[in-house]
Amino acid sequence: MSNPLFDSLFGVHAGKRETFLFLPDGSEWCYDSFLRKVAQYAHAIAQMGLSAGDRLAAQVEKSPEALAIYGACVQSGVVFLPLNTAYTTDELTYFIDNSGAKLVLCDGAKAEALAPVASTFGARIATLNADGSGSLSDAADDMPEAFDTVPRDEADLAAFLYTSGTTGRSKAAMLSQGNLLSNALTLMETWRFTDQDVLLHALPIFHTHGLFVATNVTLAAGGSMIFLPKFDLDTMIGRLPDATAMMGVPTFYSRLLGDDRFTRDLVSHMRLFVSGSAPLLAETHVAFEERTGHRILERYGMTETNMNTSNPYDGERRAGTVGFPLPGIEVKITDPASGEVLPQGSIGQIEVRGPNVFQGYWQMPEKTAAELRSDGFFITGDLGKFDGDGYLHIVGRDKDLIISGGYNIYPKEIELILDSQPGVLESAVVGVPHPDFGETVLGLIVPENGASPDLDAIAAEAAKQLARFKHPRKLLLIDSLPRNTMGKVQKNVLRDTYSDMFE
Ligand code: ATP
Ligand code: MG
Repeated sequence: MSNPLFDSLFGVHAGKRETFLFLPDGSEWCYDSFLRKVAQYAHAIAQMGLSAGDRLAAQVEKSPEALAIYGACVQSGVVFLPLNTAYTTDELTYFIDNSGAKLVLCDGAKAEALAPVASTFGARIATLNADGSGSLSDAADDMPEAFDTVPRDEADLAAFLYTSGTTGRSKAAMLSQGNLLSNALTLMETWRFTDQDVLLHALPIFHTHGLFVATNVTLAAGGSMIFLPKFDLDTMIGRLPDATAMMGVPTFYSRLLGDDRFTRDLVSHMRLFVSGSAPLLAETHVAFEERTGHRILERYGMTETNMNTSNPYDGERRAGTVGFPLPGIEVKITDPASGEVLPQGSIGQIEVRGPNVFQGYWQMPEKTAAELRSDGFFITGDLGKFDGDGYLHIVGRDKDLIISGGYNIYPKEIELILDSQPGVLESAVVGVPHPDFGETVLGLIVPENGASPDLDAIAAEAAKQLARFKHPRKLLLIDSLPRNTMGKVQKNVLRDTYSDMFE
């Protein structure tokens, strides 16, 4: 019997002296020492009473040890459940309760506050600090450096990953070994990762982007990572010369572009820049190419599916699009009411099917049934369209669609206009209740530092460019947009705040 995810991503590297992780202090972990740590943690976890199928909830800082615990879970069949480090004790209560975790792993500084929560739900608690120390590491240090891999098959669960909670309460997506493995191999091939690659890794590892995209792809290829605790501009500029590839969220790219040290020469040796998790503005894409000669490769995915589409490695990487369906993954655009496929070019809901699509939301059978069709298609909650060349364009989330007087209005179209007006840093357009129209358009504008944008002039410009039914009924200046811990704009908060504006 085998354990496909462990064997392909981890076990295959046993005995290798090549570097897996380059750390900020100049030290390195080779694959072999990483795998020995994995085995020791697997013993320690088993000794704490966890066996295949149990959940280990980890709210820990990014460290090589944290990655080794992910590996240990895979090796022992325990379901790995990483949690955003920004969550408070109150928020964690929900996750610990909801997941039925048997072990809660946290930073030593949080152990006292979390201990009563863990015990309320019958979970044990252990610690792992940012420097790799802690009670679980103490236990692991005395353990053998080899562990008998627990047999699993592709249908067995490997991880629970909570969604970012942008549109409501976070849901635990149940991901199987096959979900994770198929996507890692597909992305490795599509993006041409090899054991020669050195990935600059500054993403968090509690989210699909940093954990399953970046880390699994590197492991599948046998490459290495420059493993940084977070995005720090000076460190990024300092380490880019040692990397061959980088993966980031759009703000990584805009922050790099804002620094004069980020030059064509600095990155002329690089092979690939990947962006995702949020829309990359076309202007960032263009500015990046002007500065560096590289075209950022934008892809599209989510917690429930890992990655679904990608711009091509060879061929045109088209700004403002997320490219083509990945090999083995189907993407269709359907009518939200009927579920029928819409003609090419029409905007509709994005549905995906493939070996990457999750097994359902943990303990949410109704929500699972509503979003995961019996034929295997998952209704992503995003709206989009295919252009004439087959590139997918994302126009927003279905929950953010505004329906005013019977017309569909896509906030992004209006936001692009507001964003390009003088003195505007960024904007959000939401639908709020209106007695005559059902809903109407409200534009919220965040000024650039020290600027005071002329709202009348902006309204006039929007009126010139947009059909009458799309005109913002009101524009307001606000200090900042509400964002969740992944940095995503929470439009539900804005809708609530301004819900009685016109009533
Ligand atoms: P929740 O499901 O809890 O409301 P969430 O959808 O933000 O939160 P994630 O799974 O982290 O949680 O995010 C996936 C979403 O991020 C996608 O559904 C999509 O809306 C957005 N997204 C990801 N990549 C891109 C991209 N390249 N362009 C535009 N949007 C993207
Ligand atoms: Mg979502």
